[in-house]
Amino acid sequence: MRRFAGDRLLVATHNSGKLEEIADLLDDHAIRVIGAAALGLVEPDETGADFVANARIKAHAASRATGLPALADDSGIEIDALDGAPGVRTADWADTPGGRDFVHAMARTYGALLESGVAQPWTARFCCAFVLAWPDGHDETFEGRLNGQITWPMRGGEGHGYDPIFQPEGFGITFGQMNRREKNRISHRADAFRKLATAFQDG
Ligand code: IMP
Repeated sequence: MRRFAGDRLLVATHNSGKLEEIADLLDDHAIRVIGAAALGLVEPDETGADFVANARIKAHAASRATGLPALADDSGIEIDALDGAPGVRTADWADTPGGRDFVHAMARTYGALLESGVAQPWTARFCCAFVLAWPDGHDETFEGRLNGQITWPMRGGEGHGYDPIFQPEGFGITFGQMNRREKNRISHRADAFRKLATAFQDG
């Protein structure tokens, strides 16, 4: 694996929460994180067939535009009874004429599951992919996942997105009912983060 040896890393996200999370991870490694928004980079279309492909599109676009190594991520949920949907369309399922609405996305998910005729448990997994790309075209991929099932009705007010209908394997509560520290310990993003951290270790 090629390791990151520089002292400045471009993070190809316009999401300030993600940027802070990544800056925290890199704090110990004396790496300064720069957000894509600060450089006025445009977000490319996410036309990839899976999470890795989308993260790769974003990381390479940012690296090419700046000549710096760049990190990008993509995440979402795959539901077996729906042949992996919503997958890379996870955020899009929340689209309404009035903006993004995740109660709408969860109701749509439940509707699709009823329509599928597949019996419960509705197994699913949250996925997260990080891609670190260099200006010479090389990249490294780090993937995290967390298995669980979709449950209904929605339970809990914690978290975001699909959390109230995702029950992680081995738990009787949803992500929406779980405290943030516990979720951040077991999540798909934590899994991917642990793998990503190895790219910044010396030696
Ligand atoms: P993106 O990675 O910013 O493209 O986001 C993908 C979508 O996946 C988000 O809009 C969320 O709806 C969903 N998602 C990703 N991770 C989580 C999570 O930990 N909980 C709930 N929803 C998530």
